[in-house]
Amino acid sequence: MSDCIFCKIIDGEIPCAKVYEDEDILAFLDIAPISKGHTLVIPTKHYNNLFEIPEELGAKLIFAFKKVGQGIMKATGATGINVVMNNFASAGQVVPHAHWHLIPRIEGDNLFKITQGKYDSNDEMQKLADKINKCL
Ligand code: AMP
Ligand code: ZN
Repeated sequence: MSDCIFCKIIDGEIPCAKVYEDEDILAFLDIAPISKGHTLVIPTKHYNNLFEIPEELGAKLIFAFKKVGQGIMKATGATGINVVMNNFASAGQVVPHAHWHLIPRIEGDNLFKITQGKYDSNDEMQKLADKINKCL
């Protein structure tokens, strides 16, 4: 896509600190890292979000998450790593080219923790599970 910043990085129009690349995947450092070593893994073809990504790419993405994730941990001394994907603006997606954040973590860094809630009852919980299942 011509006006996509990540497509421009793939085409070499915009520089990046490249970590890994192959025919299908590019990984580079996030310019505004949550922690140092925060890396973005993106498909070299433009897809807007997870739901547009072909299943065939799944194994290649998992390969990249493992290879790059282990490399980040070794290079930074991280003791944990978050793999995060934001889909659609409501979930915090700013760049509409599907991408995964690999964020190295150190024990006790307290960088972020998502607030969790609870259901009013087991019945409410099960009804919602059934409703989602019917939407599949
Ligand atoms: P998201 O909010 O999931 O869409 O994340 C987009 C990410 O892209 C943010 O963490 C930005 O810091 C990062 N980003 C934007 N432009 C660049 C760039 N030119 N090079 C590296 N990372 C970028
Ligand atoms: Zn793109």
